[in-house]
Amino acid sequence: MKRQVVVGGAIAVISVASAAALGIVQSGWLRSMPRADIAGDAAASAAATPQAQPAAPNIGGQPVRMAAATSAGVSQTGGSNVAPQQSAVPALGPAAATKPIACANPNAMGIARTVEIDTTGGPGFGSQHFKSYDFLQDHEIVLTFDDGPWLGHTPAVLKALADQCLRATFFSIGKHATYYPDILRQVVAAGHTVGSHTWSHADLTAATKKGGPDAAKDEIEKGMSAVHLMAAAPIAPFFRFPDLRHPPEMLTYLGERNVASFSTDIDSWDFKIKKPDELTKTLIAKVIKAGKGIILMHDFQKVTSIALPQILGQLQSNGFKIVHMVPKGTLTTLPQYDEAVLKENKLPTLASNKPTDSVVRTISGQ
Ligand SMILES: [Zn+2]
Repeated sequence: MKRQVVVGGAIAVISVASAAALGIVQSGWLRSMPRADIAGDAAASAAATPQAQPAAPNIGGQPVRMAAATSAGVSQTGGSNVAPQQSAVPALGPAAATKPIACANPNAMGIARTVEIDTTGGPGFGSQHFKSYDFLQDHEIVLTFDDGPWLGHTPAVLKALADQCLRATFFSIGKHATYYPDILRQVVAAGHTVGSHTWSHADLTAATKKGGPDAAKDEIEKGMSAVHLMAAAPIAPFFRFPDLRHPPEMLTYLGERNVASFSTDIDSWDFKIKKPDELTKTLIAKVIKAGKGIILMHDFQKVTSIALPQILGQLQSNGFKIVHMVPKGTLTTLPQYDEAVLKENKLPTLASNKPTDSVVRTISGQ
């Protein structure tokens, strides 16, 4: 199928991006990947990061300009897969995303269209913050989910999507990926696109002010490494800034890294709304008003995991169609951050799952 790219509002023929720039780290890290058994720490993360989301996701409505944008864009895919050869990872991720979905539900929504995104130069998507690259037609919707993977909620979101034979994009938090790598792998195995959302959901504008650009860069890169390592598969060079706060230095940095940034067109505010019916009602009203767009939800949020079947049902009954985004290439992580993640995550042993009192017992003294 002909590949087209939208550059500055015009249609142009895409040039093939450098395979080297889009390659994935070949590493012994994957072979020594931890099978994290640290779910007990999850509560700490719930207290420390996602529930601390601020209420104001918009940074003033000013479109953010990208200093490093070069050629980048979106093309329709006809099932062709241009992901580079991967020798050290399973055949999942972008490769799986373009395979047809085995769909048992004859009335399912299904994917109406798949678009392939060339992340060269770090394009930005989502009209709340970025002006260009509006690739959706009337009544087309992209589903995105942030802050997972999370116990219970993410699997419920996966089931709702599978019941409608749909695929979505997940922006996972690095720390959460280390808590629930198996859940992240379920996301990958179902053919969804997986991007990243920092290591610990830090506000990168605040991080840049406090610790300089390196502090924000560390959050981004460590998050990417963690999601990649825990997914045990190639992930997309797709990134969403926590709280949709986009320090210009980091947009430039992501441009140099050939990572696309995704803001949103329709923010569900599901981190504020606690009742599933209310979430459905308010979100569908926003979608009808907008007519199309990238929707931001959270697979981390219980309310979303409960409401999603009815949200999808109402999107379908209102004539909306789902577009799935896949990356043209895969993310290349940086070895020093892979190393930092593995160091922090502790290496497992075959006996990792045994309770301590079955391994160590007191044989003398108190
Ligand atoms: Zn978030």
